[in-house]
Amino acid sequence: MTDFSHLVREANLIGGAWVGADSGTMIDVTNPATGAVIARVPNAGADETRRAIDAAHAAFPAYAALPLNERVAMLRRLHQAILDHQEPLARMMTAEQGKPLSEARAEVGSSAAYVLWFAEEARRIYGEIIPSPVAGRRLMTTKHPVGVVAAITPWNFPSSMLARKIGPALAAGCTVVVKPASATPLSGLVWGHLAEQAGFPAGVVNVLTGSARAIGGEIMTNTKVRKITFTGSTEIGKDLIRAAAGTVKRVSMELGGNAPFIVFDDADLDRAVSGAITAKFRNAGQTCICTNRLYVQSGIYDRFTAAFAERVTALKVAPGDEDGAEQGPMIDEAAVEKMENLLADALEKGGQLVTGGGRHARGGLFFQPTVISDATPAMRFSSEEIFGPVAAIYKFETEDQAISLANDTEYGLAAYAYTQDMRRVFRLQDQLGYGLLGINEVLIVTPEAPFGGIKESGMGREGGRQGIEDFLDLKYTCIGGL
Ligand code: ADP
Repeated sequence: MTDFSHLVREANLIGGAWVGADSGTMIDVTNPATGAVIARVPNAGADETRRAIDAAHAAFPAYAALPLNERVAMLRRLHQAILDHQEPLARMMTAEQGKPLSEARAEVGSSAAYVLWFAEEARRIYGEIIPSPVAGRRLMTTKHPVGVVAAITPWNFPSSMLARKIGPALAAGCTVVVKPASATPLSGLVWGHLAEQAGFPAGVVNVLTGSARAIGGEIMTNTKVRKITFTGSTEIGKDLIRAAAGTVKRVSMELGGNAPFIVFDDADLDRAVSGAITAKFRNAGQTCICTNRLYVQSGIYDRFTAAFAERVTALKVAPGDEDGAEQGPMIDEAAVEKMENLLADALEKGGQLVTGGGRHARGGLFFQPTVISDATPAMRFSSEEIFGPVAAIYKFETEDQAISLANDTEYGLAAYAYTQDMRRVFRLQDQLGYGLLGINEVLIVTPEAPFGGIKESGMGREGGRQGIEDFLDLKYTCIGGL
């Protein structure tokens, strides 16, 4: 087994120094598969955050003024540093987060890919020359880094969520203060170590762990922070949007989802079943683009449910570092209890248990991959994010009905549909109220494409050529008297 201890940082990176919390207190990092404490990280608060922001603010002018080629070279070295450590980084992630090693390796690879993508995009931060309506003037726009960026990220994708924020921020010429989730801080702290290896100057990348309220409070009120980029729950996201008003910070939000997965009668059944397995059970169902509601048309409903349940029953539930593991533990006890509550509610309201149904025999935070059929809009998981390995199947009759059921939510992140009818595909594209559409495909996230939601799922885009725009201020200049 590859050791990852050389990548564990039990300190915060502030202004180029690895330091503890002022209070000296630490937070335990546990392995959700075993409950064992694997590391301890500082429990930092508002004062440490202020110093990190000051460091980022002080480092900003010189970093922003670096020749573009130097910034690109650093990003390329960061990309390479991630790839050089892919295996230990993946093992570290599995140890603190629980996901199967195959998924952790893929996530680390994707982090590297985002950094490379934004290294390339750094060279395409174009302005415009605007035709002047009158003689003797030259009108133009130019783009400039916004300044100090604060990034707050969740525990479900502890590496790639940071890649999609740190990558474009550094590419744009911004400096960053990062707060990873307390459940998975190691995959966040290591970004500081890798950034140092890649040669980023002191203060350009700062990483803090500790109280979300204290760190978040300072970030949101500090006038030196010009942008907040957040991935997490809609509830906290709304708080941060409100708090951003005080200093009119730029805001990017990647919030919750309630993804519909629609299977039409004409779907390729095998493909739809495989897609549903991935879209539902990846990361034990703990992703914001995970399928939350499976809508299956009546003509294919029985066949789909049977084939899907067979695959679900066969999923290998095991610690993420065990060979062939397909579903690891859930992140914590509260997440497991939420599954129990959602299931009890659905069964009480007429849902049929097809497979699974409770805690897994492995004990601890392991939960059985579960399928409930005959789901209805009255059940809690119709409107709440499940965020776990419970699949709810609803029957529908017509395309219009499926679209209206799918759109009946305040969320608008990802939607999936399986059909062979191209005319229907374009109707779905027009009518589904989601920022991301997967048609006959579920692994749709890639650095080249813009990721993000509409409605209460958020604002702004990560990845794609759009992903750097949120880190840039647009200036318009008019030169007269020519
Ligand atoms: P999740 O349920 O996915 O963890 P949260 O929104 O609770 O989603 O947390 C996402 C990130 O936001 C974590 O890093 C968490 O520590 C942080 N966070 C939670 N509460 C606050 C807050 N009040 N202010 C700033 N950050 C917060």
